[in-house]
Amino acid sequence: MPASAAIPAGVHVITHPLVQVKLTQLRDAQTGSDDFRGRVTELAMLMVFEATRDLGLRSKLIQTPLAEHAGSALARQIIIAPILRAGLGMLEGMLRLLPDVSVAHIGMFRNEVTHRPESYYFKAPAHLAEADVLLIDPMLATGWSATAAVAQLKLHGASAVRFICLVSCPQGLEQLQGAHPDVPIFTAAIDPVLNERAYIVPGLGDAGDRYFGTV
Ligand code: URA
Repeated sequence: MPASAAIPAGVHVITHPLVQVKLTQLRDAQTGSDDFRGRVTELAMLMVFEATRDLGLRSKLIQTPLAEHAGSALARQIIIAPILRAGLGMLEGMLRLLPDVSVAHIGMFRNEVTHRPESYYFKAPAHLAEADVLLIDPMLATGWSATAAVAQLKLHGASAVRFICLVSCPQGLEQLQGAHPDVPIFTAAIDPVLNERAYIVPGLGDAGDRYFGTV
């Protein structure tokens, strides 16, 4: 997306310098699997920090070594929902900041001919309806997988879903926002185009292959 283009409402581009530096390292074709995994984990931590900025709090009474203290706890439970397989790469970093949350798994693969998502697995905890769901996938390319994943989550009761990715593009944003305008999107970059194989350009290549070393 050209620097001059307006960022659509509901889309949050995380411009923090550390995010941008680490994203550049991910994009670099010279970055091997080991470093790629490290940067994805760090980026996931930074992204979830930003994407949870407005979560509600409730008061939590605790005892410090010296006195009673009215502290804070999250008002609602959180569920992290990676879209398999690449979304799993972002899970570790998120769990470091949110160690006690539940994890849903959404199995979806891209048909390489039609580029459409095909669902093969869905497992989510029972409290989906009461939780803030963080749906994660590093790349928002065509947007069809994310759209289908949100639809599955909603079908199972989810009412508050946020989508977090590393790289997006206008086509994916338009697709996801068109289908689910209630879902805020957090991304570290909006790249200009998709190529004929539905890869984001310049992007970072196949995120799952690079993370899992299956290149
Ligand atoms: N999935 C990826 O891993 N990379 C892309 O560029 C698009 C979809």
